[in-house]
Amino acid sequence: MKALNGSCHCGAIHVALETAQAAADLPLRACQCGFCRRHGARNTSDPAGFLHITAAPGSLTRYRFGRGEIDMLICDECGCYVAAVLDLEDGTTIGTVNVTGCDLEGFAGRTAEAMNYEDETDEARLARRRAKWSPTTVSETAPSA
Ligand SMILES: [Zn+2]
Repeated sequence: MKALNGSCHCGAIHVALETAQAAADLPLRACQCGFCRRHGARNTSDPAGFLHITAAPGSLTRYRFGRGEIDMLICDECGCYVAAVLDLEDGTTIGTVNVTGCDLEGFAGRTAEAMNYEDETDEARLARRRAKWSPTTVSETAPSA
């Protein structure tokens, strides 16, 4: 596996998506909810890969809305929306990265597929996320010197 790297505008939050796929082969989705439209978010994830999010201390804001199930990770310093994560009942976390918000390498110029999840049942929503999102770690650490 290789890692596709990105970060928020100010660099406080670093994102690495480990994947065996080429970026061009990964899905690219534009969720049509009010939050994602405001950010112009284009998201990807690889359920067979891993998403690692590393944030400088105090740089991470977790924004919740709607059902309040997922955390939208936003940089407290520069305001970029970098990823959405969901903590599962078994204690693991899955997530999807906003390639626009963290300028993830390999996605420049690609058009995302518009996705409308409004009519999903809660059950279908969870099943979709489990099937498509990446196992994820979120850590707040001091940047190495
Ligand atoms: Zn930032």
